[in-house]
Amino acid sequence: MSLVMKERMEPGELNLLRMLKARGGLKDDSRFWNLEKGYQGEVLFDKWFSCMEGEWIVVNDLLLDHDGSVFQIDSLVIGGDRVYLFEVKNFEGDFYLDDGRWLSISKKEIKNPLLQMQRCEIALRQLLRSLGYQSPIESNLFFINPEFTLFNCLPNLPIVFCSQMNRFSKRLMKQSSSSGKLHAQHSRLAEKLCELHIEKSPYERLPEHKYDELRKGIVCAGCGGMGVRYNYRAVECDMCGHREVLDMALKRSIYECCTLFPEKKITTKIIHDWIRHMVSKRVIQRVLHSNFSLIGHGKSAFYVKEEKGDYTNS
Ligand SMILES: [Zn+2]
Repeated sequence: MSLVMKERMEPGELNLLRMLKARGGLKDDSRFWNLEKGYQGEVLFDKWFSCMEGEWIVVNDLLLDHDGSVFQIDSLVIGGDRVYLFEVKNFEGDFYLDDGRWLSISKKEIKNPLLQMQRCEIALRQLLRSLGYQSPIESNLFFINPEFTLFNCLPNLPIVFCSQMNRFSKRLMKQSSSSGKLHAQHSRLAEKLCELHIEKSPYERLPEHKYDELRKGIVCAGCGGMGVRYNYRAVECDMCGHREVLDMALKRSIYECCTLFPEKKITTKIIHDWIRHMVSKRVIQRVLHSNFSLIGHGKSAFYVKEEKGDYTNS
């Protein structure tokens, strides 16, 4: 059984980009698709690893800093005799290696993921040493997508293709049974790494977006489209048929507005505009009042979201 010490969450930036995309606020959506695809690959990896027999401590999605060099680890797994570093890529299509360069079949060069992983391993090793751990590190680069092919690749590279994952898990389980049990020091290491994890602001790379330029209405929680209509205490999507209780859809929409525009003072009037007048101000006020905190009085009063509320549809 594996113990997951740090769960993987959808990246905050991806969540924000999805909100912008639904409302026509993304001129270039390549970053969105990259993040979305990468995240889906990592989720598939987690699912695969959760079936792994043996004793493991899993720490997902770490952003660490050692001596000023910041590095990211998709999945770090602590076993009895070593630390595994797993880098997960969800690439699709044909690629080839040419003298250490990674190229797509259309000859477009991509960042060398092996080099990226090796740098990560070096930084992690130094960090572990500084924490007093000498455990060996084994790094593997996973290509999780069955539609991915890499030509011109030597078999001795630390790469695991989709077609090799079954065999890889057998090897891992064997290693686990021969390397002995996990001890308190293993959990201490996992705890320490979780403590050192850096939380990055999801707004850092977010493209500039203006309230007036975004499409107004309620985004469908099912398909992410804007074809939602109000229909007796619920909203219904013309495109996918998804039905959602009105209050839930409103809470979600208010949360969206607060998240995309953290500086904005949320009022009934703004939300009424944000959802394209789909329901009356009275209904909006009721939902705001029972789910958000009111700051101030009279005309200058506004609402703020409470930290505990999470209305994302992910
Ligand atoms: Zn829909």
